[in-house]
Amino acid sequence: MPGFTTTIVHSDRRSGIEHGSLHKPIHTSVAYGYEDVQDLADVFQGRSSAYSYGRQVNPTVTALETKINAMERGVATVCFGTGMAAIGMVLFALLRKGNHFVSSSFLFGNTNSLFQTFGLHGIDVTFVDATSAAAVAEAIRPDTRLVFVETIANPRTQVADLEGIGELCRAKGLVYVVDNTMTSPYLFQPVQVGASLIVNSLTKYIGGHGTTLGGALTETGRFDWSVFDNIQDTYKKGDPAKWAITQVRKKGLRDFGPTLGPQAALHLGIGAETLALRQERQCANAQALVAYLAGHDKVARVYYPGLPEHPEHARATKLFRHPGALFSFELADGVDAFAFLNRLDVAIKSSNLGDNRTLAIPVAETIYYEMGPERRASMGIADSLIRISTGIEDIDDLLADFEQALAEE
Ligand SMILES: *Cc1c(COP(=O)(O)O)cnc(C)c1O
Repeated sequence: MPGFTTTIVHSDRRSGIEHGSLHKPIHTSVAYGYEDVQDLADVFQGRSSAYSYGRQVNPTVTALETKINAMERGVATVCFGTGMAAIGMVLFALLRKGNHFVSSSFLFGNTNSLFQTFGLHGIDVTFVDATSAAAVAEAIRPDTRLVFVETIANPRTQVADLEGIGELCRAKGLVYVVDNTMTSPYLFQPVQVGASLIVNSLTKYIGGHGTTLGGALTETGRFDWSVFDNIQDTYKKGDPAKWAITQVRKKGLRDFGPTLGPQAALHLGIGAETLALRQERQCANAQALVAYLAGHDKVARVYYPGLPEHPEHARATKLFRHPGALFSFELADGVDAFAFLNRLDVAIKSSNLGDNRTLAIPVAETIYYEMGPERRASMGIADSLIRISTGIEDIDDLLADFEQALAEE
């Protein structure tokens, strides 16, 4: 089998594009016409998988779905306008009022907010410390249907017990959803720990250039949907491994409409081709900056799974190709965090992650501000925590930048 990057770079060419074009073109048509009306009826009745209407399917987006699916070794992938839409639509399409799910409490801030909103609609969540599968097991109730975790949590870099939770979900017949955004399929493929469904925000490492929003949901084929009570009869056709993703495409994408546009799909697909190259460099830069900061007397603590003293260091080393390109740290008492951040010149003060540029942000005052001090404390987020997402800059420039920003008082 060809390697990760070879597969992605050559995936469009294999689909036989007109004029021998090497990239899938941007298809802008919203609707598709048929000579024989029977062919159109077959599409609507699920007998043929051709194109009908752009809200649920588009050839340029299909090409991206094929790429993401190959990256994650899935059986089917659906793309969305954002990563948040992918997460929201999984719950919207697959859970019902009265269902309960268990989630890691170390969670992307907007996902945390979204899960609380689902609670208002009768789908209850229990947040647990997912670095321990036992904590997840304790939260399971008779009405529990699903478990949701991230791989490496942002911003404190806790690593979920991905294998233990996978075994638990298999034993209990629970849907296991893994948000793989922070690792990306280059560093880790959740299918290997028994994930049922994989979420990726394409906005981050996969798209990589910080120009385009997108999300994806991949079905791994590991869950037996024939025993899941929330699949509608009309989607129980063909291979049961694809029933859930079909329902998500119909209920989530077609009915709700958080569709990825074809222009965005092209940009994300081009970005995806260099994922491995960029992440190699970003992870190496993170390792080098962490090593520098961990030994600096104006730095109190550094959180990065690549550090031997990180509580889940062994787990991260076993599961991930590299320990990621995101870390966070606390400055020593008396060092003014805002003044330090303002002295950074190469690193940009910005909220995104996974860009080619190194980005820095004070967490409690910005992305985790709305959730308040109590929830922040439960997530291990100190008021002085600074998050860094490393880019692809030359490491000497990054080291010099942090050095001068820490030198002044
Ligand atoms: C950014 C992010 C999301 C949301 O993705 P968007 O594309 O910004 O909507 C979800 N999960 C994680 C872990 C993220 O970092």
